[in-house]
Amino acid sequence: MTDLYEHQARGLFQEYGILVPRAEVTDSPKGAREIARRLGGRVVVKAQVKTGGRGKAGGVKLAADPAAAELTARQILGMDIKGHTVRTVMLAQPVDIESEFYISCVLDRAAGRFIAIASAEGGMEIEEVATSRPEAVARIPVDPAQGVTSAKATEIAEAAGLPPQTVDVLVRLWQVLTREDAVLVEVNPLVRTARGQILALDGKVTLDDNARFRQARWGEQDAEHGDPLEAAAAAKGLNYVKLDGAVGVIGNGAGLVMSTLDVVAGCGARPANFLDIGGGASAQIMADGLSVILADPDVKSVFVNVFGGITACDAVADGIVQALDAVQLTKPLVVRLDGNNAVRGRAILDDRAHPLVQQATTMDGAARRAAQLAHAG
Ligand code: GDP
Ligand code: MN
Repeated sequence: MTDLYEHQARGLFQEYGILVPRAEVTDSPKGAREIARRLGGRVVVKAQVKTGGRGKAGGVKLAADPAAAELTARQILGMDIKGHTVRTVMLAQPVDIESEFYISCVLDRAAGRFIAIASAEGGMEIEEVATSRPEAVARIPVDPAQGVTSAKATEIAEAAGLPPQTVDVLVRLWQVLTREDAVLVEVNPLVRTARGQILALDGKVTLDDNARFRQARWGEQDAEHGDPLEAAAAAKGLNYVKLDGAVGVIGNGAGLVMSTLDVVAGCGARPANFLDIGGGASAQIMADGLSVILADPDVKSVFVNVFGGITACDAVADGIVQALDAVQLTKPLVVRLDGNNAVRGRAILDDRAHPLVQQATTMDGAARRAAQLAHAG
């Protein structure tokens, strides 16, 4: 899943005909001053971070003129909001808010459909409203085959007590969701201005990464989102997920790797990652996998757990030996080879006699050893 920044979400809203205030993005206080001048002086300065609650955290502020916009941008840039550092701010033309509404549409996996959620009491207190007065928040299931038609949108708006002009916005929001392959679209607040216009003042869009192959324009998102190690692994075609422990794990086959994580946890250590090198487990893949894991500063030991099947253990051991020549091993490696040709595989590693490599014959024994080494390191 990939969350978009507010300014990206509003870009989409605009494309689909949902009205948004005029706005521009910058990463510098000077830039903020210039943008404020272009937008007419008075602006709302908004932190661009992929988390909600910016308003409450001081990341959304009104500035009266370009000089104030510069000062406010200087305050907000670099700010930490729930662990996200603010790198850019968006400056938007302020609007006279008459009422704030909440609307969203989200995938309900368990039910195999979407749910439209709407409330006439949107704004920063929506979570509070949802818990203290759930009746003020309408939840209407949406059949994906039908979608949000005008009739459905009318049903949603009426259930939530939203004005009729929001019906069109609800239909367009559904178009954003389906055409962009999103699993969530949310506007909070959607506002009615003093002049009766309906505007989206904030936006959240979560894209389904499984649809990335047909959503070419989001390709560049890869570089800036997620863990750098995951990005490096993805670039090498590895099936890698960063976790928060100290024992690096490499295995062949997703099921084996999953159970390896459990066994490591059972030994009182925490796995540092999931890495499935698949059935082939060539020297190149082993070297790539090792280099990603060794680059993780949290890793104190590495556990290679291979069950030889179609690719026999001696081939895997050859791969490990070649990887040891290609990658400078800096942390202890515990290898457990079992299955097809395990004895020959172990002999190959014994011959290589690398000082940081040790072998274990059972998965439990290897996990215990790797956990000990992680604690010691
Ligand atoms: P969030 O706290 O991360 O959800 O950030 P929002 O973009 O929703 O902004 C928080 C609050 O700031 C909104 O609920 C509005 O009340 C207020 N706000 C945001 N933009 C404007 C604006 O252009 N004009 C005015 N008057 N208020 C705004
Ligand atoms: Mn908001």
